[in-house]
Amino acid sequence: MRTQSGRIDRPEAAEPPYIHCEDLFKIYKTDDLEVVALRGLDLRVARGEMMAIVGASGSGKSTLLNILAGLDQPSAGRVTVGERDLLTTDEADLVRYRRVEVGFVWQQTGRNLIPYLTAEQNVEVPMILEGRPRGETRERARMLLDQVGLGEKLANKPQEMSGGEQQRTAIAVALANDPPLLLADEPTGELDSTTADEVFAVLRRLNRDLGVTIVIVTHDRQITQRVDRVVAMRDGRTSTELVRHVQFARGTEASIDEFAVVDRSGRLQIPRDYLDQLDIGARARIELAGDHVEVRPERPGDGRRA
Ligand code: ADP
Ligand code: MG
Repeated sequence: MRTQSGRIDRPEAAEPPYIHCEDLFKIYKTDDLEVVALRGLDLRVARGEMMAIVGASGSGKSTLLNILAGLDQPSAGRVTVGERDLLTTDEADLVRYRRVEVGFVWQQTGRNLIPYLTAEQNVEVPMILEGRPRGETRERARMLLDQVGLGEKLANKPQEMSGGEQQRTAIAVALANDPPLLLADEPTGELDSTTADEVFAVLRRLNRDLGVTIVIVTHDRQITQRVDRVVAMRDGRTSTELVRHVQFARGTEASIDEFAVVDRSGRLQIPRDYLDQLDIGARARIELAGDHVEVRPERPGDGRRA
């Protein structure tokens, strides 16, 4: 435990969370099949935080992000962003939410940008749709492209830019209407690791300079170095959390703590490799041992009456 610094980075410490998911469920119903994509997910994100969600394919990451983006409705549970309850908000309000409250970046570079418009025009589009005056849209588009390091590429069309430049343009598009929240679903999934790190660095800078809250879904392990917190998802729930502590006294050095997420009912997930190493099956022994809890595999004969 790391308490000597007195600095607690966990988001539940102070104000109510900006994003709050509690016991969130999403069930996809197809003809004769039900897929439970989220099964009782809990998540809190503080305003101004930059955090990442990692997890195997199929663990529910995109489902969660689509719900937070107002693109999909959860089946049950609770999800609020700011003052809004995304489970009960009506369609008109959701449209408003998607337009001005949240920016979204997709993995597929082609999905983020209009191919026949320049970078500058792409960034202007969301502002024009909001009815903002042309002079203002151009000025803000230039400012945003400058902030993502593309001040020289204003007149380039998507096919005249690299993958990383296209994703940085997409970030500028997502921030056009100055939303307080930016969501990115595997934004670097199609990029090499150097280019990916440039994109993460741009996000980090925007988070710091504009105060925008950022949630990134990624497979990229190097993300741990770029964000405040990494939450891992498994089987439609959050399972573990990595929290980075920056030790100011010793310069820029950071240490990383890993926590298991404990939900409201006291459930937690034991990492898969621990289960395998200890051969823990469907049941385990759990005992209080002074200041900690011990979890052991069931031994032969356990649970049998003498
Ligand atoms: P991830 O982004 O972590 O790979 P997803 O959220 O895309 O995971 O998917 C979670 C689960 O939900 C998967 O089993 C997936 O097949 C299923 N799923 C996702 N979208 C749909 C859909 N529109 N209809 C039916 N099943 C879906
Ligand atoms: Mg996905």
